[in-house]
Amino acid sequence: MRDLSVLIIGAGFSGLGTAVALRREGIDDFAVLVRADDVGGTWRDHTCPGAACDIPSLLYSFSFAPNPGWSRTYSGSTEILAYIRRIADAHDLRRHITFGADVTGLGLPTHPRWVCPPPESAPATASNTKSTASCSPPDSTSGKPEHPSPSPAAAAATSPPNGTAAPRPTRASTSRAYPNLFITAGPDSGPGHNSLLVYSEAQINYIVHGIRTILHRNLATLDVKKNAQDTYNRRIQHRLTRTTWNSGCSSWYLTADGFNATMYPGFATRYKRQLDHLDLDHYYLSHTPAAEA
Ligand SMILES: Cc1cc2nc3c(=O)[nH]c(=O)nc-3n(C[C@H](O)[C@H](O)[C@H](O)COP(=O)(O)OP(=O)(O)OC[C@H]3O[C@@H](n4cnc5c(N)ncnc54)[C@H](O)[C@@H]3O)c2cc1C
Repeated sequence: MRDLSVLIIGAGFSGLGTAVALRREGIDDFAVLVRADDVGGTWRDHTCPGAACDIPSLLYSFSFAPNPGWSRTYSGSTEILAYIRRIADAHDLRRHITFGADVTGLGLPTHPRWVCPPPESAPATASNTKSTASCSPPDSTSGKPEHPSPSPAAAAATSPPNGTAAPRPTRASTSRAYPNLFITAGPDSGPGHNSLLVYSEAQINYIVHGIRTILHRNLATLDVKKNAQDTYNRRIQHRLTRTTWNSGCSSWYLTADGFNATMYPGFATRYKRQLDHLDLDHYYLSHTPAAEA
């Protein structure tokens, strides 16, 4: 197995967008694993007649890949898939991709960073499996290593998803006790009124910032603090109480017991702003033994 800095799971918009951003940062030692036999994700899978986006295509595009040639305001799935394929080819991403690789679980490594697709489309990724690594760090912000590095044995052990418990991430991107794991289009990142790609690009920016931090500081782990995650989720849930989604109607945005772990209760500009900066005070950092010496 090659030694890689980053592992990306999924080759839809989010996975490929992350790959492009990593390349832009000069990070080229990453692999993309995808269970399908082509790029495209949702847009490869949805081929039913009439499938199309419902956000104008000019907005449902990545900012780094503008496409003035969309044939319709709301383009169909074939055209969107062709757009995604062009991104993969233009950025020479296929050489990083292993197709037909169905990820059924993730151990907790001491090194690679990974980026996962949305939990609902990734039934067996670390975003909904539970690592048995014991992580109960002291809440300290000293410059010393703050987090016990998990032993490889603990890191490799995973157990099945935890019932119906809804995910509780921080800034929709990182989740406590899953160090070095970044989630795209995950919980609390549903736009409702805008293009997911606007949100996705903001997340990718945050994720690449995190990966860059890990690599440049030679960190073993970057793991969000419980109090940072709890505070973030409390605020999100409070703001959600004032939205239509939480007004008492049932919908697919809610879990069976009525919890909303799906939507972001605010404007896209606000969502983007909160991801412009990675606040390291919100994270436990642990260093590799070499860096500590
Ligand atoms: C008909 C339709 C219309 C839509 N219209 C809009 C719209 O107008 N605006 C909008 O913002 N959004 C729209 N969406 C939502 C759309 O899903 C997202 O915008 C976007 O395509 C999600 O991209 P993604 O890369 O995050 O996830 P996906 O496209 O779901 O990609 C996930 C990738 O991960 C891979 N994968 C998943 N699990 C595993 C695993 N365990 N192992 C290996 N690989 C795995 C999959 O094969 C895939 O490559 C629409 C969706 C549909 C179906």
